Amino acid sequence: MYKDYPSAYQPSEGSLFDVNKDFYDLIRTTTNARTRVSQVEVPIRSGYAWKVNAGQVFRVTAPHGPQVGDFNIWNAHDPRERLWASRTRQLQGSHVSIYDRLWSTLPFMRPLVTITDDSLKDYGIDEHGGRIHDLLGTRCDPYINRILTGQDFNHHCHSNLTRAVLPHGLTEFDVHDVLNIFQVTGLNHDSKYFMKACPAQQGDYLEFFAEIDVLCALSTCPGGDLSLPMWGPEAQDPLSVCKPLGVEVFDLDPQLLKGWTSPECSPYAGQHGLTLKD
Ligand code: ZN
Repeated sequence: MYKDYPSAYQPSEGSLFDVNKDFYDLIRTTTNARTRVSQVEVPIRSGYAWKVNAGQVFRVTAPHGPQVGDFNIWNAHDPRERLWASRTRQLQGSHVSIYDRLWSTLPFMRPLVTITDDSLKDYGIDEHGGRIHDLLGTRCDPYINRILTGQDFNHHCHSNLTRAVLPHGLTEFDVHDVLNIFQVTGLNHDSKYFMKACPAQQGDYLEFFAEIDVLCALSTCPGGDLSLPMWGPEAQDPLSVCKPLGVEVFDLDPQLLKGWTSPECSPYAGQHGLTLKD
């Protein structure tokens, strides 16, 4: 439909944006060098929060078939540092897969996690321009729902994430723009956001390597597999297409982590051109 054009952000060699693919390939393929330390199933229309140590791997899984999950992530020690979806879109793409990183907000600016495996990596781009694992959109929430429908509903992803992070001392002000895992989206010819039915099958997963200690939260979207419209004249309750999601955390053999160091924040000093005078 239109010609291609090169991406604006190009990695400089040796920078944090220059991914050492061999390292992540080793983590993905050396499956006998990992030990699962936890496995949880997140019920439909609920949220779950969990911590992952730097150097561990975690997976979000679809244990019962298609279901989308809204994902948030913070520095486990400072919630001001959290996923910056907009910058991540610029650096990595509107949809993410293996070797892509989720980058943190200013003034921190570093990768929180790197994607090491994706059972749906071959989804590619479909006939409508749809791609999977979406950073374009954000979470469903009860505030826009009230505006659109006049109804209150307490199990939108924003609310599920809010309930999940409350025990960690966070509030709804900490919930931020999400990565929509297993969700196929795109922009149509009018530049409008669309969501398609989730293609995940039982057993599909997206896997991350934690670059720093992180707090994660996941909502099992009340839209389920998004095969039924939640808004507009055709709207119906998608309860029948809701499924749980899974979360698994793994320890890695320390041998695998040889040569890896947890990334530092950007070294820019934050002076912004200001100087102090006597
Ligand atoms: Zn949702």
